[in-house]
Amino acid sequence: MVSNFTQQSNPGMFAPTMGTMGIQPIPITKPIPGPAMVQVVAEFKCILVGDGGVGKTTFVKRHLTGEFEKKYIATVGVEVHPMNFSTTRGVIKLNVWDTAGQEKLCGLRDGYYIQANCGIIMFDVCSRITYKNVPKWYKDVVRVCDNIPIVLVGNKVDVKDRKVKAKQITFHRKKGLQYYDVSAKSNYHFEKPFLWLLRKLSGDANLQLVESVALAPIEVLIPEEQIKLIQTEMEQANAMELPPDEDELNPS
Ligand code: GDP
Ligand code: MG
Repeated sequence: MVSNFTQQSNPGMFAPTMGTMGIQPIPITKPIPGPAMVQVVAEFKCILVGDGGVGKTTFVKRHLTGEFEKKYIATVGVEVHPMNFSTTRGVIKLNVWDTAGQEKLCGLRDGYYIQANCGIIMFDVCSRITYKNVPKWYKDVVRVCDNIPIVLVGNKVDVKDRKVKAKQITFHRKKGLQYYDVSAKSNYHFEKPFLWLLRKLSGDANLQLVESVALAPIEVLIPEEQIKLIQTEMEQANAMELPPDEDELNPS
């Protein structure tokens, strides 16, 4: 098959003839639209970390073109999803790095973190231990990446019986990160963490998405009442005063 790139670089070329049935070749006068035609104004590396099983891979696979164009880098054992976002500042590409599961076994090497421009730390709201491990992931990121925007996301909020309640999620406030509830399976808030990162990376707090992102069809539908409840709990949690740090409670 001829790639889009080739077709664009030879706009005057001829389409193949239809066998020997006397059908004349059709000149292609217009370049065929495709991924290579997108004018990307900026590109960034975005790392995705968090315990195994929290839903990182499920989350990145929702972005359809990112999934279609993903590349496996064998030397580091990662899958890179190039996700384009059409914004008021033009098309910005986030190359989102997803592990091949090393976090479950031996942890992630420095090569995973090096030269990251931004990051997402994910935990599972149905598993307390994955939230308890957030500080460890944060430490690993900031050890290698100096002062990059980081967003914390709690995944699987479609599950009714969540174990990590909104008011228990305080880590981001202590560290000045942003937090979002998400549900990869229902596409709930898929774009929120990315939009926040894009605003930080561009330095434009008013940056908007001008086209919605093509996402995989939802697998789980969160009922309207549950969404309302999730949002109310989040607002109440945000209005709460920060509990004192454990270190402050137990000074050594
Ligand atoms: P990873 O190890 O962090 O990459 O996690 P995976 O993407 O492999 O997901 C682990 C499990 O969580 C799988 O069984 C997914 O189907 C499930 N999962 C992922 N996202 C969601 C979600 O939003 N809601 C629910 N209910 N399950 C999810
Ligand atoms: Mg995975």
